Amino acid sequence: MADTEPTASGLREFHDRLGQAYGPQRWWPVQDADNPRFEILVGAVLTQHTAWTNVEIAIAGLRKAGPLTAEALLAHDDLPALIRRAGPHNIKAKRLRALCAWFVEQGGFEGLQTRDSDTLRRELLALHGIGHETADVILLYAFQRPAFVADAYAFRIMERYGWARGTRNYERMRRSIEAVGPEDDAPFYDELHALIVAHAKQRCHKREPDCACCVLNDCCDHGRGWVAAR
Ligand code: SF4
Repeated sequence: MADTEPTASGLREFHDRLGQAYGPQRWWPVQDADNPRFEILVGAVLTQHTAWTNVEIAIAGLRKAGPLTAEALLAHDDLPALIRRAGPHNIKAKRLRALCAWFVEQGGFEGLQTRDSDTLRRELLALHGIGHETADVILLYAFQRPAFVADAYAFRIMERYGWARGTRNYERMRRSIEAVGPEDDAPFYDELHALIVAHAKQRCHKREPDCACCVLNDCCDHGRGWVAAR
């Protein structure tokens, strides 16, 4: 049975069971494995409310148009057209420009990586169009900081599991997981987020979760209810 609040051992078991079910996820997906970090920043903005397949097309277009660097993106007059496939392109171009300008002003990864995680998160959240989820994706995947990405998939699963109740609150969820998660272990959070996405897509569907085949069904509030009803 899941505790009503996440615990260190419960979170580890949650992570390990999903890991056994789905195997290593090896996120974040990038096109240029030799230079992944800036591509992650771009992908984190482009993926807001957009299917990943469209983000991949937009990133491929940007790479075709020039180097994928903050300076090059700021120099593109036609940035909105280049990212057209990734949803509301004018809005996202404005957000990308704000992120790139900050990135350049602060000295890129070299200048930014001396900041602690709370400072980096605060600075990211102060940028135009960067919300909590995008900031934590950037912290986790581009800066390798231990951060829990409390996205809609995480809320769906945690609410059913019994670890989230009441009105959805991003910071409350993030802090409750990070309070019991391993300190300074970004790979744990990297894998946890990727496994949550895999689980939400493959078993814990928005409608009609497949509790019968779920590796968490004896720990999950919703799953135990489903088992008891049989
Ligand atoms: S038991 Fe059902 S509701 Fe619970 S995590 Fe698994 S699929 Fe989702």
